[in-house]
Amino acid sequence: MIGMYREEDYLMLSGLQHFMFCRRQWALIHVEQQWAENERTVDGHLFHATAHDGSRFEKRGDILITRGLNIRSSSLGMTGICDVVEFHRSEKGVSLPDFAGTWQAYPVEYKKGLPKENDADLVQLCAQAICLEEMLLCEVPEGSLFYGESQRRLRVEFSEELRERVCAAAREMHRLWEQGYTPKVKPKKGCNACPLKEICIPGLGRSGTASVYIQKKLRED
Ligand code: SF4
Repeated sequence: MIGMYREEDYLMLSGLQHFMFCRRQWALIHVEQQWAENERTVDGHLFHATAHDGSRFEKRGDILITRGLNIRSSSLGMTGICDVVEFHRSEKGVSLPDFAGTWQAYPVEYKKGLPKENDADLVQLCAQAICLEEMLLCEVPEGSLFYGESQRRLRVEFSEELRERVCAAAREMHRLWEQGYTPKVKPKKGCNACPLKEICIPGLGRSGTASVYIQKKLRED
């Protein structure tokens, strides 16, 4: 568990996926407020718009389904929106207004593509679970990631190790945020598909600053 943050210091929970992929990408988007949309991210937004239809509420047998639920955690210092939270009827669950019985919260996050090589999606989903636990005063032991391309659900158990990764990432994000610091370029496999590559200039990796890079390019020309 980390310290309690003030609401004005909350960061966007959705930034966790950027941060786990590339700290610089997260800082460019969230610290420097820069953003360059490419086709990939626009597609992602459209996919999410479908999942975030807040007007829908469904009951399917012993499962209640809510969409676009606003969530927050003062221990992580984060706020965000859950694509879908299912509430499964369970003796271990909590009471909900308008529904008899007790219900176990179960977050489901929609992703457009396939499971990633890194753990960004797992960390983001686990952060949602930590928010739900704080808000509902309950335990949320597992959830699922739904991948649009394979149309499959991947069950995720929120282990202590995964929770600690979330807390460590949140601490580091707050530290960078407070310092207003953008980590330096570390070129990686994913740079080519990165929507910020034009801003970031992956070729900066060795030369250090934008002006050095531009001068080097001018000499080459
Ligand atoms: S281009 Fe590469 S280093 Fe730069 S922000 Fe994107 S992923 Fe990170």
